[in-house]
Amino acid sequence: MPGFTGKCLCGAVSYTSHEDPIVTINCHCEDCRRSTGAVFGTNVMVPEDRVDISGELSRYTHTADSGNTMTKMFCPSCGSLVAGTSSGRENVLSIRAGSIDDPEKIDPSVNVFLDRKLPTTLVNEELTCWARMPGNAPWKK
Ligand SMILES: [Zn+2]
Ligand SMILES: [Zn+2]
Repeated sequence: MPGFTGKCLCGAVSYTSHEDPIVTINCHCEDCRRSTGAVFGTNVMVPEDRVDISGELSRYTHTADSGNTMTKMFCPSCGSLVAGTSSGRENVLSIRAGSIDDPEKIDPSVNVFLDRKLPTTLVNEELTCWARMPGNAPWKK
């Protein structure tokens, strides 16, 4: 069955995506590092209008190097980063992979921002690898 569920660490925020991921990317950019607290972010892109979220999310908005307005959504109780949006991606919700319940739904196919990768981060070279975020990425329309 398509779709998957997930939740934050404390469970105050949970969600159901009624679609499988459009694409899942490992992003090594500094924004993903700092916001996730991990050495890279794994971002699971789904159609935003096909996700139901239960519970209140806090939001933090910042401007990326690209000039896009990025919104990070996190649980106000436990601080878990759950999802994000970008003004450069219409109707795409970027769910943080660590919040997903079913490990089989976490299947990255792309590495981006490898030019920002930490020297100690191991990379799966079998995935599509980009030094930056390509302007014509299929999920950006
Ligand atoms: Zn929480
Ligand atoms: Zn990133």
